[in-house]
Amino acid sequence: MRWLTVGGALAAVLVGTSVFAVGGIWASLPMIGFFISASMLPRALRRSHQTEQRTARQVVANGLAPTLCCWGILLYPEHEASFWSGYAASLTAAAADTWATEFGMCYADTAWHIITGKRVPKGTSGAVSFIGTLSGAFGAVMVGSLTMPLLPPYPLQSLLICSLGVGGMRLDSLLGATLQARYQCTSCGVEGEQPICCDAPAVLVRGVRWMDNDMVNLLSTLTAAAVGIAIG
Ligand SMILES: [Zn+2]
Repeated sequence: MRWLTVGGALAAVLVGTSVFAVGGIWASLPMIGFFISASMLPRALRRSHQTEQRTARQVVANGLAPTLCCWGILLYPEHEASFWSGYAASLTAAAADTWATEFGMCYADTAWHIITGKRVPKGTSGAVSFIGTLSGAFGAVMVGSLTMPLLPPYPLQSLLICSLGVGGMRLDSLLGATLQARYQCTSCGVEGEQPICCDAPAVLVRGVRWMDNDMVNLLSTLTAAAVGIAIG
């Protein structure tokens, strides 16, 4: 399993150097702010299945969209402003989702399914909570304000970027409630996100097989980036 850790580190180095090479310290700050806040947020209640492999995938899930925006600046320098807007939007969305998940898991008493509105156990994909939403919005504003030096001095655009972050968080919940794979164990009957349970493959009961939590994160941050680029 060791190479996965190296893979994760390589992914982080690739993301970090791309961002720093293209945008220097001002572009790196919101990225650093996101990663520090994401790792400092309450670790104790993180889902226990987060192994080294998931950490490596997590870097890509949250880091690919902003990195692509940096590469876009290298390829099309004439569209730099638009790509920075996409960069800011994808990072802000990643932050909103991470903050919402961590705080919601730790402190929410009640969670609701984003589509049906029914009460569901917190941590269920597609579950939203008041505390989670509030914390996500706070995370969006925190990382969003760090992206301000990258954006033209229009207060409206910064506000739009933060709203995009919150929108990305909502899209994440929506995808989690619809497309994300959900499995049921054939021996213990437990339903969850893991394709393996009781040492045996579990049956897919909903969603798309390859659509796991990281894939949902990736799609949401890529969508936020695309909308951010369009706004920019
Ligand atoms: Zn089982």
